[in-house]
Amino acid sequence: MKNMKIKAVLSTTVLPVDGAYEVRALSECPDVTGVEHYIGHPDTKTIVEELGAIQAPSKLFFGLNPGESAICFAIRQGRSDRKEQGYTSPHQAVTMDDLSVRIITRIDAGQCPFCGAQVYRDGWHCPGCGAT
Ligand SMILES: [Zn+2]
Repeated sequence: MKNMKIKAVLSTTVLPVDGAYEVRALSECPDVTGVEHYIGHPDTKTIVEELGAIQAPSKLFFGLNPGESAICFAIRQGRSDRKEQGYTSPHQAVTMDDLSVRIITRIDAGQCPFCGAQVYRDGWHCPGCGAT
């Protein structure tokens, strides 16, 4: 999980920018402390804020740049009904079992911020200037 550039926490795979993306399911949630979220659904919002994500100043997510990742949370099918039938304390503990977590990473080419050469993904090594 090191070196991931997590730019945002989303409730669905909201992708307003064209590009190539890789989506992977995660068995556990990465550290999203301080990451801005764009989630409006109240239950999911509560969960991601308990995990340390903070509400983005804008409701509009402008997308990922190459090499950036977003964590997408969705409540698993069938789990939200069970929650509604049970108690509804806003402080109830939520577990990752209730959530489906995916990481989405933009993998198409970007530009080296130093020399402008094409580079790929995160953890890149620039073939132009050798920056990493
Ligand atoms: Zn470079």
